[in-house]
Amino acid sequence: MSRRSARSAAAQPKYTETSDNESPLSDIDTPTLDAIAGQTDTTPKKRNAGATATTKVKTEKNENVNVKASPRKAKANGATEQDVEVKPTKERGVAAKKKTEVDDEAEIKDELAAEETKTTTTRVKVRVGKKSAVEIEPQEVEVVEKSHAAAKRKAKTDDGEEETAEGLEVKEKKVVKRRKTKEEKEAELLPLRERTDMSTLERKMYIGAHVSSAGGVQNSITNAVHVGANAYALFLKSQRKWASPDMAQEAKEGFLKNCEEQKFDAAAHILPHGSYLVNMAQKEKDKADQAYDCFLDDLNRCEALGIKLYNFHPGSTGGQPRNEAIGRIAAQLNKAHKATSTVVTVLENMAGAGNVIGSTFEDLRDIIALIDDKSRVGVCMDTCHSFAAGYDLRTAESFGKVMEEFNTIVGANYLRALHLNDSKTPLSSNRDLHANIGTGFLGLRAFCNVVNYPGFENLPMVLETPIDRKGSDGKSVEDKSVWADEIKLLESLIGANYEDEKWREVEERLQDEGKEERAKFEKQVEKKKQKSIADMFKKASGKGKKGTKEEEVEAEEPVGEEDEEGGCKH
Ligand SMILES: [Zn+2]
Ligand SMILES: [Zn+2]
Repeated sequence: MSRRSARSAAAQPKYTETSDNESPLSDIDTPTLDAIAGQTDTTPKKRNAGATATTKVKTEKNENVNVKASPRKAKANGATEQDVEVKPTKERGVAAKKKTEVDDEAEIKDELAAEETKTTTTRVKVRVGKKSAVEIEPQEVEVVEKSHAAAKRKAKTDDGEEETAEGLEVKEKKVVKRRKTKEEKEAELLPLRERTDMSTLERKMYIGAHVSSAGGVQNSITNAVHVGANAYALFLKSQRKWASPDMAQEAKEGFLKNCEEQKFDAAAHILPHGSYLVNMAQKEKDKADQAYDCFLDDLNRCEALGIKLYNFHPGSTGGQPRNEAIGRIAAQLNKAHKATSTVVTVLENMAGAGNVIGSTFEDLRDIIALIDDKSRVGVCMDTCHSFAAGYDLRTAESFGKVMEEFNTIVGANYLRALHLNDSKTPLSSNRDLHANIGTGFLGLRAFCNVVNYPGFENLPMVLETPIDRKGSDGKSVEDKSVWADEIKLLESLIGANYEDEKWREVEERLQDEGKEERAKFEKQVEKKKQKSIADMFKKASGKGKKGTKEEEVEAEEPVGEEDEEGGCKH
């Protein structure tokens, strides 16, 4: 599924986010559109509320973990957000529809970076007149076309009629334009929760989330601060496009400046996530080269930004022998290491079975074994992926065993980062479906194990949990306070006595929240299992070609992705 963006490739070299069937909105003032990136999630009013709550929680450990008031119970978040009408061309029509009708759950759940696609949901800034970029509330803006013919076509845009971008003009309605007040602007910059002072934590656990870098990498820091993250992940460029436009100087400088101002140690606690398109195990020469170029470009960006860790999915065998595929990954990595100087390539462990590489510690070990410069390779452990791949982190004992296994097979020194996600599916389901912390099959205790494990100190720990919530109008909105709360919840588990009665309450409440989802996906997994068993029998008895077909399909799967509903592609 492709994501949409209303930004122009020409004006925005940092993040050209137009999908294949979508032309850039070159005649709309794109820098202005860019400037509003990240404003979609919360209304200023709500941010104010969050900020007020923040002063209360600040850095008080074990206090104010407001799970009860969790934003998981979605709120109506700005009912005025859906009225933007921007559909003068087919492409725009589709794009605007996508942006305004955010009730397509699958589209939204798709990934965290989907935020980039919704930048025009809340507000549209349109160039009016010659130079003044005026920000207008959605209801106050209407994009119309000049001619009647065009207007007729416009009416058809949702049906996919082909149209040109000509004849567009922006007409203001008579309603009074409203600029954001200074207070509202300030509120947007206020954190939902303050970042926890490390010196107040019993263990130095750097917990954060995968935040948006829409509009340029420099914005990721603001977004991380907004949710109170002490570590975070980001995409360095569009993760679904092969294009690697040069990083804007402004983005680079802004990033370095923000890092310094916000005291983020980019080398230690910022963990970019690689492109989903890249399969380092690719056999076909052209495709392998394309993957390598995209990968190397990311590594170069890391080095330009002072980032030392780069996380990526190892790859897919594409149906080829596993040892050969692993050999190709290692060869690509060795080449990339020689072409760069400091960045550490971090292999993410995966959930999937079949062609997916990296679901077992043995896979990771085998890749590392072939790396010439061992100081340039590491592992990122995703709690959801581990669990789905059969590594049980739920009890203190089983968690201990898993870590022992990791340390024996891979080696403790290779562990460089963690992704903190609960799982919507049971142990060994091989499904990559992230759940909110404590609501999944892993449960809160697993995370108590994680945040108290001494071996994880100082490593970036990144939430990739779902934050889209349904408003009372049925439309999805991103609620970043989910991450802000989860970070505080996890931090409050550090050094906590989990046997304490208060944790039973939190545990039960969270499990209760995830009850329906767990039941739903458990059923789905069970069904799939039954089906594959049935297929196996069919295949064994030589009935039909179904088994062969499925193998072919699997070979073409994107690298370690989960396309199912509720899937977080990380
Ligand atoms: Zn995942
Ligand atoms: Zn990932």
